[in-house]
Amino acid sequence: MTDAMLLGGVEAGGTKFICAVGKHPAEIIERASIATTTPDETLGAVCDFFSSMSETHGPLKAIGVGAFGPVDLSQRSKTYGQILSTPKAKWRNADILTPLRLRMGGSLSLDTDVNCALLGEARYGAGEGEKNIAYVTIGTGVGAGLMINGDIVHGESHPELGHMFVPKHPIDADFAGVCDYHRDRCVEGLASGPAIMARHGVKADEIPEEDPVWRAVAYYISILCMNVFLCVSPAKIILGGGVMQRSHLFDMIRHAFAESLNDYYGARSFRSLDEFIVPARLGGNAGVVGAMTMAAERTSL
Ligand code: ADP
Ligand code: ZN
Repeated sequence: MTDAMLLGGVEAGGTKFICAVGKHPAEIIERASIATTTPDETLGAVCDFFSSMSETHGPLKAIGVGAFGPVDLSQRSKTYGQILSTPKAKWRNADILTPLRLRMGGSLSLDTDVNCALLGEARYGAGEGEKNIAYVTIGTGVGAGLMINGDIVHGESHPELGHMFVPKHPIDADFAGVCDYHRDRCVEGLASGPAIMARHGVKADEIPEEDPVWRAVAYYISILCMNVFLCVSPAKIILGGGVMQRSHLFDMIRHAFAESLNDYYGARSFRSLDEFIVPARLGGNAGVVGAMTMAAERTSL
């Protein structure tokens, strides 16, 4: 990468697309937030942003895109780069790479929004210096990404750990859950922002810390953390997303994690739970920083 070359990053979300450019992934020069309307309109505005950035700051070397999903990441697939079964009808089967490729050319890379946030946190945030990390976001949905030995886990496409099934907490016996696919069986159905709101009709940021709902939410997140720990032995589990703004949850999650494991730490990969289950550091920029990191690190597709 020469000094003059710009990197572009896009965090393509269901409500907004955040775009940024920088000459280093962690140093954003300019950033824009574009409403998610129709694919033509939104992707057109994204291209306009990058065109104007390259006029001002010099040519773009590469653009990384972190997309909401499920998105087809299998390069052998005919639907590579398409958003698959989203409830957002206008975006179903939308191809988010081709419009960028046609207008911007150059090198494009694609991953999920969660994997991009994981990469950003791993390189420049709470996971700096670590090679084995899990990143979990608890927001409108629940998503998680894994980095093992420095590589992001993809499998055939990408993991969907937010839909991991968890046992119901006793205080939640009558709660029906909100996952479109699994109702009250999975973490997203029980612990996402909309799931928290569905219990009382009050937004997650307005529910007091003493409310019993937090015990249940912390329990579900702790089970997800425990299963990730048992499967892949990460050095850290980083928790981000809107719901994790409620910082009282961290100790509740650590406590529930320790209780569920019942001292069975096996080949324990952490010194203390405070350093093992940690808050994300990059906040709302994790996705774009990760997308720019991917643009810098991955070769042309
Ligand atoms: P998204 O998942 O849509 O990308 P966020 O990670 O910000 O965006 O998550 C939005 C969800 O997080 C909403 O359901 C909202 O109620 C919840 N949320 C946002 N801020 C807070 C907060 N301070 N406390 C608790 N919940 C919050
Ligand atoms: Zn589910």
